[in-house]
Amino acid sequence: MPKELEKSVTYLKGVGPKRAELYNKLGINSVYDLLNHFPRDYIDYTATVDIKSCPLNESCTVRGRVVKKLAPAMIRKGLTVYKAVFTDDTADLTIVIYNSSFAFDKLQTGGEYILHGRITGNMIRKEINSPVFIPADSNDKIQPVYSLTEGLTQPQVRQAVKNALAYFDKNIYEPLPKRIMKQNRLCSLDFAYENIHFPQDTHSRDIAKRRLVFDELLSLQLGMHMLRSKNRSRTGCVMHPVSLEEFYNSLPFELTGGQKSAIEDCARDMCREYPMNRLIQGDVGSGKTAAAAGAAYFAALNGYQTALMAPTEILSVQHYETLTGFFSPLGIKVCLLTGSLDTKQKKELKEHIASGEYQVIVGTHALVQQSTEFHNLGLVITDEQHRFGVEQRAMLAAKGENPHRLVMSATPIPRTLALMIYGDLDLSVLKELPKGRQPVETYAVTGKLRQRAFGFVKERLDEGRQGYIVCPAIEESDLEVQNVTNYAQKLSEEDFSDYRIGLLHGRLSPAEKDAVMQSFKNGELDLLVSTTVVEVGVDVPNAAVMVIENSDRFGLSQLHQLRGRVGRGKYKSYCILITDNVTDEVRKRLRILSSTSDGFRISEEDLKLRGPGDFFGSRQHGLPKLKIADMSEDTDILLQAQKTARLITQTDPQLKEPENKGLRDAARRLFEQKLSD
Ligand code: ADP
Ligand code: MG
Repeated sequence: MPKELEKSVTYLKGVGPKRAELYNKLGINSVYDLLNHFPRDYIDYTATVDIKSCPLNESCTVRGRVVKKLAPAMIRKGLTVYKAVFTDDTADLTIVIYNSSFAFDKLQTGGEYILHGRITGNMIRKEINSPVFIPADSNDKIQPVYSLTEGLTQPQVRQAVKNALAYFDKNIYEPLPKRIMKQNRLCSLDFAYENIHFPQDTHSRDIAKRRLVFDELLSLQLGMHMLRSKNRSRTGCVMHPVSLEEFYNSLPFELTGGQKSAIEDCARDMCREYPMNRLIQGDVGSGKTAAAAGAAYFAALNGYQTALMAPTEILSVQHYETLTGFFSPLGIKVCLLTGSLDTKQKKELKEHIASGEYQVIVGTHALVQQSTEFHNLGLVITDEQHRFGVEQRAMLAAKGENPHRLVMSATPIPRTLALMIYGDLDLSVLKELPKGRQPVETYAVTGKLRQRAFGFVKERLDEGRQGYIVCPAIEESDLEVQNVTNYAQKLSEEDFSDYRIGLLHGRLSPAEKDAVMQSFKNGELDLLVSTTVVEVGVDVPNAAVMVIENSDRFGLSQLHQLRGRVGRGKYKSYCILITDNVTDEVRKRLRILSSTSDGFRISEEDLKLRGPGDFFGSRQHGLPKLKIADMSEDTDILLQAQKTARLITQTDPQLKEPENKGLRDAARRLFEQKLSD
């Protein structure tokens, strides 16, 4: 990028140090920043309607002429009203402007204008209050509307951007190689800036936007690639094809087609010279663990260790048990490494890991954080990946001889988002659920029906099933935990006094959590009252009913995850969502949930409703903030950008070629400090 564009906004006419400070507040320091301060909206003076058919109390754009200007009327001290009669020959409209003779003076009797503003009054006498307007013969018929800060006005920013555009014309710059522009049918950056700010028509604005979205998504892809390939080199764990038959035959069930092909994908990848980098996506209950176990089995037969990392203690215990079940008949040794071991146990276990006695090592983050030495680490599996950040992933990958990597994602992430977050990861999707699964029947009710819901739960418990009651404790703060504790207490004294109730929340120690979970699994508890710590992956096939309190507080995907805790066995299962906060939006969300059990669809809807920023509850995914691309809409461009990123990085992985310098800079700017090494 030419140095000129990095100069301060004070270089522009009309921007002094004072005003520059206001721009800084908006995150705009340089001329370049200002060019990239894209309009948040536009006023489209081309989309006019007849005054006669203008709906009341809505913003409209009308074209006509000023018939007559009335004398200003002083209503009281300091409040003057200016009025003018305006017509487009379908009807008249009274322009009303308070206090601003400046705006009023610009209107000429007999002059033709296009006005934009809210229409009030009644069907016979319509008024428009303080409209914005342009002369009907103006060339700027689509005007940008910018995010402002106090002290800056739209006209000021528009003018500054115009000056910045003129400045850009003198220091023209095009980061995209011609070839790529051609392949993707993109306009020049010059045209894009001009038309995103001051479009001639909506078509050129769309063309401009496409180019800018492409650039941003390309930078994102390239940045992710650079971040990831920082230490990428050949793997020291090239494996050889071996038969998986024995594993398949020893399982207590028949694998689904998706599980088998996921395992085969992994086996194929791990025989290559470069480390596998694969994501297994599957809805709750689709059996990701068994698929991952297949990959671990393949590694074990090849003489390599596998590390499986889970986000919580409960989950790692569960994985440990599942894998032990799968592997002990096959003579493969599994161990569990978690934070709750004492120092001595940990030390011993680590020695056995280092000596290669265990082939499969399951654990929590402790695996990453502590200096575990592996004997021969060949495969790293991470469960519930979206809880880890980009950097954390890189850290585990740096262990061993560049081991293969497999990620299991619990949330079926919309394809767009998966591409964003996982960039160049290969994808195996588990489309079908294991045979015999029935969808969880889901109902949304208000608190008035709580007693009935509890009655329904009791019936299930009496049939020998188990149940969950989930209360949100988003932060697991003292207060929230106290609330859940009181609630559980009340249930055990009143509604469920004849049943065995357990309580699970985030403030319990790992050992306590385990104990509760274990007795629930063993059937020693009928009902588990819990905060969302139960959310991820816990597997108790006998649980067939779940009640979720304050269900409006959860996102759709999270509710779907929660609901996935039931319906995992052969029993017909139910989920009752209770909420008293029945807004339209909540109703909409809960309706989606009751009408489908397709996790992918649900997460698409979730993304649409909440936007990508909130998608994971918090910004843990380590993605930079995007200015113009919209992850839920720009899928096609994303796919193009991804393809382009692949082509570029195949020949120039580190973007060292002069031709790609602009792209490298752009990726660095997007990721700011993270890529500056
Ligand atoms: P998730 O994809 O949600 O992590 P799990 O791996 O926990 O799902 O599997 C859910 C349950 O389904 C487990 O009890 C597991 O043993 C069982 N399961 C996995 N694969 C199959 C299959 N092919 N047929 C029947 N049951 C299966
Ligand atoms: Mg799981």
